[in-house]
Amino acid sequence: MARAAITNAERRKTRQIRVGSVPIGGGAPISVQSMTTTKTADVDGTLAQIYALAASGADIVRCTCNEQAAAEGLARIVPRSPVPIIADIHFHHEMALAALEAGVQGLRLNPGNLRKPEEIKMIAAEARDRGVPIRIGVNAGSLHPELYKRFGGATPEALVESARMELAYFEEVGFDDVKISVKASSVPLMIESYRLASETFDHPLHLGVTEAGPPPAGLLKGTAGIASLLVEGIGDTIRYSLTADPVEEAKAGRQLLEALGLRERKGLDLIACPSCGRAEIDVIKVANEAQAALEELNLPIQVAVMGCVVNGPGEAREADLGIAAGKKRGHLFIKGKIIRVVPEDEMVSALVAEAKSLVAEGIEARLAAADDGAEAEAEKDRLALFDEKGEDVNASESRVELIRKTIAAEHGAGPSTS
Ligand code: SF4
Repeated sequence: MARAAITNAERRKTRQIRVGSVPIGGGAPISVQSMTTTKTADVDGTLAQIYALAASGADIVRCTCNEQAAAEGLARIVPRSPVPIIADIHFHHEMALAALEAGVQGLRLNPGNLRKPEEIKMIAAEARDRGVPIRIGVNAGSLHPELYKRFGGATPEALVESARMELAYFEEVGFDDVKISVKASSVPLMIESYRLASETFDHPLHLGVTEAGPPPAGLLKGTAGIASLLVEGIGDTIRYSLTADPVEEAKAGRQLLEALGLRERKGLDLIACPSCGRAEIDVIKVANEAQAALEELNLPIQVAVMGCVVNGPGEAREADLGIAAGKKRGHLFIKGKIIRVVPEDEMVSALVAEAKSLVAEGIEARLAAADDGAEAEAEKDRLALFDEKGEDVNASESRVELIRKTIAAEHGAGPSTS
């Protein structure tokens, strides 16, 4: 039997850490992360982006801390942020110490770029004293040169060894409040690396395909890597790395988790038929209009836009609400049951009004408020279409007839010589 979602019970068991108020691992809901693209020293610009990311589904936001002005910016950003802030640290250990001083809820260290054991241990000891977790953020593109040489390249074993070595430094100062990432821009390498990391560590894993590029290819790469691992039960927090407005990363992360049934639906899920020659409307246009109007309302429902009344309501019967195009009219339906027939030019506005009522009153109440005679009106449109196009709207029987004739003609012509 098909499973509706990956349940917590099927997820690989990891220990739990907390990034500020957000638990990660140990069965906690998988969290969504993104990263600001502003200069961290630009406090207002960075905060505006953090708020936009939080509104789009990010549970945690990372900001670069690459210079003193950035660290000072973090001191002003952290207390005003709606979500926990992680400082991203590459080459300068003093930036990690400054970020901790600024009050960040987490650090990300790149072991390939920050290599001196004394400095790594100094940061870990400070994080330990302040109760701040660290992500060991290994990246295939910036793997420690010695590991690259030892393993003959950026292999899964080399990436995992990099994380293990960093963890060993941390353990020397009694620090283990850690999550791990082993990212690569190659999806197969990323998947293999995380599988190995999952077998090697019980720390929570932060998933991502790094430098995935602009959408749509970047989205596809990110989804291929992240979703493949999530369905195996691997991964505790995720980030899409897109060459795009980071809001797209947060939205994608949230939507992926909702699509996999790993997070409750918070926003709209619009489904639409791909359209075909039978469509009675411009499905793409109506779907885009509906998406724009409904997205603004951010209602937690699934809405369907279907191009024809013959197959539409049936095919989308699982949707909370939907509209299908008939003879210049739209059939509004809830869970596949027609509740109202509206003129074609009112399809989108009727859909939006019903979506609001549905969220406010619930499915049962809205089904009870269905127009008397809506089903009968809808049936008239269906029959009119049958009259116009014939009962065999899929042309199935005439196609079967054609297939029979073709095969009979071929048999009559004798065996093929090719
Ligand atoms: S719902 Fe109608 S228009 Fe849309 S793809 Fe199916 S048959 Fe075609």
